[in-house]
Amino acid sequence: MTDLLLRDALLPGRTALTDLLVSGGRVAAEGTGLPSGPQEIDLGGRLVLPAFVDAHCHLDKTLWGGPWVPNTAGPRLQDKIDYTRTRRGEFGVASADRIEALLRHVVSLGTTRVRTHTDVSPEFGLQGFHAVREAAERLAGHVTVEQVAFPQYGMLTNPGTAELMAEALRTGLAQVVGGIDPAGLERDPVRHLDVVFGLAAEHGVPVDLHLHDRGTLGAWEYDLIIERTLATGMRGRVTIGHGYALGDADPARQTEIARGLAEAEISVVTCAAHSDPVLPILTLRDAGANLAAGNDGIRDLWSPYGDGDMLARAHRIAERAELYADAEIELALAAATHGGARALGLPAHGPTVGSVADLVVVEARTQAEAVMSRPARTLVLFEGTVVAQ
Ligand SMILES: [Zn+2]
Repeated sequence: MTDLLLRDALLPGRTALTDLLVSGGRVAAEGTGLPSGPQEIDLGGRLVLPAFVDAHCHLDKTLWGGPWVPNTAGPRLQDKIDYTRTRRGEFGVASADRIEALLRHVVSLGTTRVRTHTDVSPEFGLQGFHAVREAAERLAGHVTVEQVAFPQYGMLTNPGTAELMAEALRTGLAQVVGGIDPAGLERDPVRHLDVVFGLAAEHGVPVDLHLHDRGTLGAWEYDLIIERTLATGMRGRVTIGHGYALGDADPARQTEIARGLAEAEISVVTCAAHSDPVLPILTLRDAGANLAAGNDGIRDLWSPYGDGDMLARAHRIAERAELYADAEIELALAAATHGGARALGLPAHGPTVGSVADLVVVEARTQAEAVMSRPARTLVLFEGTVVAQ
């Protein structure tokens, strides 16, 4: 790995330009007038950000890069579930080629770390895991992809699913155990968490649960997950995706839950998709709870929406959360960078000395400007290697 000198870089929060020396996959030095190396890139005063982390997506379902597939699913939730479950084979889902096309696209937009929730169900077994793994292997050295064993169609309510999740974890196809609506879908929250946390303990993996349940039911499930995390010594290894109920709760209850999340070091991931509630970003910050961001579905059988761009996602989160001050807009960007890395248990990355050199360079002067303008990405580095330019 040759050293790379990035000349005339603008770092977040600064006004004066500097140089960055990238060596051994890390940012090794920073300062003006660093000596020239064998490889040098003039950034021309552009802003250097930490590369993006998509902490919640569904690569296995994507149709990206293929011919347009008209969505003919009905309007109800059950229609969408049936459609994605029964017609995936007809549209070639999951496809390593489609997933590879999407991964190439997101890397070009500055994403270098991905956690994806891969469907598990007896009708199609672990097919999605093999497709995602194959695509990720083709993109090795550009992006890392972590797979969650995700019971999209239920676990207790879909016999055979828990056994397949265990198989995915045992064989290393999945690195994280998932879960879904312990009460609303599964109708037995205690037993659902018994199985999910049991699999986590057995295989030594983190937990990442989808929680769509709304209102007081969903808020109560937050309590259950916080309690379970503390009781099982899983502090720092649990993530809740969507978690709309936290957006529904009144301010006092939001604070109470956010403090519980901080104590248990549970990360929450917001996608700000559709009209669903965004999480209370300022309350989470005040409580010291970690917020990450993700794209959720990207042009798939479930939804034709999504473009894979985490900077656009940060913009969407900021707008939906009604963040106006630059310092608040920066929180939405942090969710798409450092917050995601923390949720995934990754070491610090970004343009600070000693950090992993996963970087993205944009035509902007400040972080808030980058979020609002969503400018082109002129350079992307993965562990110090140029992966898009
Ligand atoms: Zn999801």
